[in-house]
Amino acid sequence: MNEQFDIIIIGGGPGGYVAAIRAAQLGMKVACVEKRGTLGGTCLNVGCIPSKALLESSEKFEDATHHFAEHGIDGSVKLNLKQMMARKVDVVDKLTKGIEGLFKKNKVTWLKGLGTITGKNEVSVDGTKYAAKNIVIATGSAVTPLGGITIDEKQIVSSTGALELSAVPKHLVVIGAGVIGLELGSVWKRLGAKVTVLEYLDRITPGMDNEIAKNFQKILEKQGIEFKLGVKVTGANPSKSGVEVTFEPAAGGAAETLKADVVLVAVGRRAYTDKLGLESVGLTTNKRGQVDTNAHWQTAVPNIFAIGDVIAGPMLAHKAEDEGVAVAECIAGQKPHVNYNTIPGVIYTHPEVANVGKTEEELKGANVAYKVGKFPFLANSRARATGQTDGFVKILADAKTDEVLGVHIIGPQAGNMIHEVCIAMEFGASSEDIARTCHAHPTYNEAVKEAAFAVAGRAIHM
Ligand code: FAD
Repeated sequence: MNEQFDIIIIGGGPGGYVAAIRAAQLGMKVACVEKRGTLGGTCLNVGCIPSKALLESSEKFEDATHHFAEHGIDGSVKLNLKQMMARKVDVVDKLTKGIEGLFKKNKVTWLKGLGTITGKNEVSVDGTKYAAKNIVIATGSAVTPLGGITIDEKQIVSSTGALELSAVPKHLVVIGAGVIGLELGSVWKRLGAKVTVLEYLDRITPGMDNEIAKNFQKILEKQGIEFKLGVKVTGANPSKSGVEVTFEPAAGGAAETLKADVVLVAVGRRAYTDKLGLESVGLTTNKRGQVDTNAHWQTAVPNIFAIGDVIAGPMLAHKAEDEGVAVAECIAGQKPHVNYNTIPGVIYTHPEVANVGKTEEELKGANVAYKVGKFPFLANSRARATGQTDGFVKILADAKTDEVLGVHIIGPQAGNMIHEVCIAMEFGASSEDIARTCHAHPTYNEAVKEAAFAVAGRAIHM
């Protein structure tokens, strides 16, 4: 037997590396097993960070090519995709190395290799055995494949391949109108691709407040992204001249085809437990492939815990991080909590879309009486000044108590703005509390304040 640890965490993504640092802060001897050559997991390597780097670069290109002239800035620019990709790689490198630095600072041991649970107190890393008082599973998620379609990461790509294309495709077909498909579709649309999104459901971004989703679709269509909703993709055949995508109406009907240079399969992600050795301690996965836990992130084996994408809940980096902190504190005997009702969701398109709490459909389904307050960015002076007037803020508040139950924003910097309402909701705020909080002028956040006033039918600038 090799070294003994208080905690061995399997997976060095936002869940795992944060749990490792927090556990070390609490005085435990910690190891984190990661099989990838770098720390940071999906998020830093092939997820949140490279996608946001490309979203930023492509937005600058879109601005320079389409919107500078209206500001009186003339001149032509051209795309240097190689440099754009090099910058993305640099951003990712610096951040993943940063986590390595944090591990050193906090004396967390990085065990490099594939971690397999070989006993309730034992983890094997590429064959070398380590003892652990506690084990935390933070193995994350992987791309969900689509039956009959083989991802080659060149012509038919997952999100990982879509972050690394060496040329702008003439026609990109995106299968799946969820967050990842729309973000990466936006990147390549801005860089010059024709983008067609195929979606099985009759709406985009399932789970999002319906009114916001409809508005979002209209805005994306205005930007030139095409949608075919209610269609089932049945095949994608690559050849030298491109990929022929076959689809038919989801409700049944005649098949159609589309020719694409690149097809992005973005139909979701699945919990990842391959080669983890759950069976060695009698653990199984549920029918969604996730590891089941109780409210303290404990599996059926009391000293084995699980967090992040591999368990139930939204597959988001910040959810994994909050669980990482909480699980370390649980193991240290503290009593932390994660409020799953105030976890924000953000889509980093332009405009951004952000939400927290309940949708209107969820409140209706639960028979909760609610009031709605809305305010459009068209009537927000900062949005007028910056020329970003698409979208609105929507606040849902309890009809009796006025407590804020859900907030949905589509508009400039929605992903930053949502946090004022996350905090308000965490403290049980009413819409009147938000309305009576002084907001600086001129800011986009004033639209939140006005929407809060609108709940009581008294927005000022509308
Ligand atoms: P992961 O980040 O998946 O990390 C798990 C790690 O465990 C991996 O590095 C893996 O190599 C390692 N591992 C697995 N099994 C083993 C084993 N047996 N031994 C050793 N190592 C193992 N979320 C957001 O909140 N905001 C965003 O903007 C966002 N954008 C995204 C964009 C894309 C394109 C994608 C794909 C995802 C995005 N996400 C985003 C989701 C986010 O990346 C995940 O929710 C987050 O990474 C989950 O963290 P995790 O720690 O649970 O797992």
